[in-house]
Amino acid sequence: MKIIDGKKLALNIKEEVKKKITENYIKKNKQVPCLACIMVEGNSASEVYVASKQKACEFCGMESRIIRLPNDVTEKELFKTIDKLNNDKNVSGILLQLPLPKHLDDVKATNRISPAKDVDCLTNENLGALFSARPIIAPCTATGIIKILKSENIEISGKRAVVVGRSLLVGKSVANLLEQENATVTICHSRTLNLEEITKQADILVVAIGKKEYITDKHIKDGAVVIDVGINRTEEGLKGDVDFKNACNKCSYITPVPGGVGPLTVACLMENTLILHENK
Ligand code: NDP
Repeated sequence: MKIIDGKKLALNIKEEVKKKITENYIKKNKQVPCLACIMVEGNSASEVYVASKQKACEFCGMESRIIRLPNDVTEKELFKTIDKLNNDKNVSGILLQLPLPKHLDDVKATNRISPAKDVDCLTNENLGALFSARPIIAPCTATGIIKILKSENIEISGKRAVVVGRSLLVGKSVANLLEQENATVTICHSRTLNLEEITKQADILVVAIGKKEYITDKHIKDGAVVIDVGINRTEEGLKGDVDFKNACNKCSYITPVPGGVGPLTVACLMENTLILHENK
């Protein structure tokens, strides 16, 4: 059984991005890519994520802008902020940190971002391109998961993949990329009956539900590859959606939490920002 080192893989990706930025932009005195993160205050997890994105930008030699808006910001003010960044020629990618407070509509606000700057590929236009297998970029977490599998030379084609969770951000996107890699994919969600009967058929099991240690060895086929996307904050620190120790008895590969998928998401965000900048 192998524990996949997401931090190491993420560092390789960020170093590659840094190298390209140094060679193609800094040394040539050209405008470096710029990632703008809009954060509506009030979500402590978002604060942590935005700080780690800013750190990654610094590492890669990218410009980062953080736009903090008050928790009671109106839709009109939020849209004005997004429009300003859409029209700013120095901004390569825009990330709207989700979830937004309840009075704002996540989907409507995301779709205000110009598709050319939609760095997490969540606008309707970019999702359409993703689902018709013509994306310039794909959502960061889903991209990171495919990179994890490929870095370990795990065969995807022809394999049975089960994704637990159907959010656009993670579940649906990763299911789509796995299908594009020729896996046979099943998506499960909170209304799925007999979940363990389905998950037990998976050669590759991806879990993104946001429920601490919900998936245990009874859900896992012997020798399966288990990708744990969940991030659950507990008094003992961050925990995944998979009961790690217990799952280790069954799987051939597993991603830990922390140190698995999370660092890849940030690294792929850097890569996506660079791609959008190159496409400007
Ligand atoms: P959402 O809350 O948007 O979606 C959760 C999904 O899980 C839903 O589709 C829901 O089903 C399903 N679900 C909930 N409970 C069960 C259950 N008991 N059995 C089966 N399915 C269930 O979450 P996200 O997709 O945004 O995130 C999922 C997790 O991944 C979270 O812990 C989040 O913090 C983490 N995350 C981690 C990232 C990383 O970089 N590592 C990046 C993004 C997210 P239904 O649709 O029926 O409600």
